Amino acid sequence: MVRLVTLEKAAWGPAAEPLFLEFVNSLHWDDGIPMEELEDAAALAAWCAARELPAEGREGELGALRSLREHARAIVERLATGRPLVLADLQAIGQVLGGPTGRLSFMGGNSGQPSLCFEPEPGHDGGVAFRVALSLTQFLVAGEHGRLKLCANPGCGYAFLDFSTNRTRRWCDMSGCGNRQKVRSFRRRRTLGPVRRGRS
Ligand SMILES: [Zn+2]
Repeated sequence: MVRLVTLEKAAWGPAAEPLFLEFVNSLHWDDGIPMEELEDAAALAAWCAARELPAEGREGELGALRSLREHARAIVERLATGRPLVLADLQAIGQVLGGPTGRLSFMGGNSGQPSLCFEPEPGHDGGVAFRVALSLTQFLVAGEHGRLKLCANPGCGYAFLDFSTNRTRRWCDMSGCGNRQKVRSFRRRRTLGPVRRGRS
C-alpha cells in the first residue's frame, strides 16, 4: 500500500503534468462527444495504477471522485479564462484536503534530496482524492496560473500548462487539436461494432 505522500510540489514540465490536470482531463470531449476515462471501477483502478497511485479498493470512491472532478474543472476553467474562483469549489477541495488524519515525516535526509511527507494513520492511504486535492492546492499556492489554458478547440475541453517560451501554445496537442481525427476513428469503431473497453 502506497501510504507516504510527498508534500513538495513536483517539478512540472512538458513531460510531467501535475496530477490534478490529468485528473481533470480524465473527462474531456472529442468534438463535443464525452470521453470518460473513469467510467467504472476497473477503469479507475487502471487509471490509478498507471500513475502509481493506490489502485486497490477504490470502487466506493468513484462518485466522490467525479464530484471532486467537477469542482476541480470549474476551478481550472475559471483560472484559464481569468474569472474569479467560486468559494464552493474551493471549499470542496479544502474538505478533501482536510480529510485524512496522520503525521508529518521527514524522509531521505541522509542521502540525496530530503522530502517532507504526510503519513496517513495506519489503515488509511490518504486516497486518490486527497492526492488530487493536494496537487491542485499546490498549484493554487505556487502561482503560475497564467500557464493554465484550455484547448482552443471549444469542443475539446482539454486543459494543459503552457510551457512554451512565449506562452503561445493554443492546442491540446502539438499539431493543432487532433480531436477531429480522434472523433472519426471513434465513430468508425462505433459503426463497426461495440467499442472494447480500455481501447480508446
Ligand atoms: Zn484539443
